[in-house]
Amino acid sequence: MPQFAGKVVIVTGSSNGIGRETARHFAAEGALVTIHGRNEEALEQAKKEVHEAGGNDVIVVRGDVREDSVQKKLIEETLAKHGKIDILVNNAGGMVELCPRKGFEQSIEDFDYIIGLNLRSVLSLTMLAMPHLIKSQGEVVNVSSIAGLNFGAESVPYYAIAKAGLDQLTRSLGTHYIKQGVRVNSVNPGMVRTTIMKKQGVDSDLQEKDSNIPEGRVGLPSDIAKAIAYLADRNASPFLVGHLLVVDGGSHLNMRLMSTSSKKFAAL
Ligand code: NDP
Repeated sequence: MPQFAGKVVIVTGSSNGIGRETARHFAAEGALVTIHGRNEEALEQAKKEVHEAGGNDVIVVRGDVREDSVQKKLIEETLAKHGKIDILVNNAGGMVELCPRKGFEQSIEDFDYIIGLNLRSVLSLTMLAMPHLIKSQGEVVNVSSIAGLNFGAESVPYYAIAKAGLDQLTRSLGTHYIKQGVRVNSVNPGMVRTTIMKKQGVDSDLQEKDSNIPEGRVGLPSDIAKAIAYLADRNASPFLVGHLLVVDGGSHLNMRLMSTSSKKFAAL
């Protein structure tokens, strides 16, 4: 039997990147998937890929995940069609797109946007889904980042603060809701080849060259999708609760060195 046969899964931010591959992965393993994003063309393509992977009855919800109405739609449309929710993957995230301001030059409005997207929306959507997850004895997997780990992140401080907050949310939700039978865990990716850097106006080829990843390559969306599936499968990871699973080819182990000066160390 497929790993997720009959499971009802919501993946936010699945029009592109990691989320799209995760939705495809779940569908290929027998799940009934709700996909979500903002870009209509990307959503159409994601729907096609999920369908080709074997996904039937794909639900598509479009809109900004920070909006209450979009969050309600995700829950209500999924329940209306399938009558339950087994797995919630809080994957939508990122920064202010094509933002001309960098680091601490970013405004308070930029901070609010980044916190709203990566932290507040995860809390509010998880709370909306929670009664249904308690009923199904389900799973939440948050998609965080190594940016939120215990290092300074002066180039993307607000994003790192949001992801660090998300990690604490994962721990606290995890220890609280396991008592009602719901597991909450997190995948923390390192650099992954998606549309995220393009949305920042950054040349991802250049960034990849400078990335210093011990494993020797940048991550693929499938590397992260497999880790999300592992945490969403209680048979595979039954004793992981409030856990942060770092999936980064070892790069966070090099971060202290990198933050000092990559050029200086490249010469050694
Ligand atoms: P992409 O930009 O490729 O995909 C992000 C997805 O989230 C898209 O489907 C996008 O929708 C959606 N999204 C973004 N903002 C909003 C919003 N305000 N409302 C609704 N949907 C939104 O990025 P990734 O796949 O790389 O990112 C997925 C997750 O992985 C994020 O949480 C990110 O922080 C995290 N991550 C990524 C890393 C990387 O190197 N790629 C590293 C570490 C963490 P649309 O495109 O339709 O607008």
